[in-house]
Amino acid sequence: MAVERTLSIIKPDATRRNLTGAINAKFEAAGLRIVAQKRLWLSRAQAEAFYAVHAQRPFYNDLCNFMISGPVVVQVLQGENAVLANRDVMGATNPANAAAGTIRKEFAESIEANSVHGSDSAENAAIEIAFFFSGIEIVG
Ligand code: ADP
Ligand code: MG
Repeated sequence: MAVERTLSIIKPDATRRNLTGAINAKFEAAGLRIVAQKRLWLSRAQAEAFYAVHAQRPFYNDLCNFMISGPVVVQVLQGENAVLANRDVMGATNPANAAAGTIRKEFAESIEANSVHGSDSAENAAIEIAFFFSGIEIVG
C-alpha cells in the first residue's frame, strides 16, 4: 500500500449545520490525516471551474449554485490509499444508497447536498489539490 493524498471538500450543507468537526472526526477515525485545511466561500467562477468535468451533466448549474450557497472547507487528506479510503468513509453519492456509518449516510441531506466531495482517482486528486493549495500549505 502507498501513502496518498486526496482532495476533500466539506460542502455548504455541512458547514451550515456546524458539522466540520464531526466530519473531520470520521476522517481521522478512518486513518486519514488532515494535512491542509482552509475555509473558503467559493465564487461562481471557482465552482464552475472546479466542477468543469460535470459541465454537460443536467445537475451542473444546480450543483454550482449549491456549492456557492455558503462556506466550504477544503482539505488535503493523507494516508494509506487515501483516495479509496476517503471514498469509503464518504459513502455513496446518493445518501439513500450509502452504507451505515459513512459520512453521507449520517449527515447528507440529499443526492445534491451530500456534505462532502472527495477525489475519485489519484490523478484527479493531484489536479484538485493543486486547484486549492500550494505546496507550502500542505504539511504532511
Ligand atoms: P461524487 O461526489 O460521489 O463523486 P459525482 O462526481 O457523480 O459524485 O457528482 C458530483 C456531485 O454532483 C455530487 O457529489 C452531488 O453533489 C452532485 N450530484 C451528483 N448526481 C446528482 C444528481 N443526480 N442530482 C443532483 N446532484 C447530483
Ligand atoms: Mg465525483
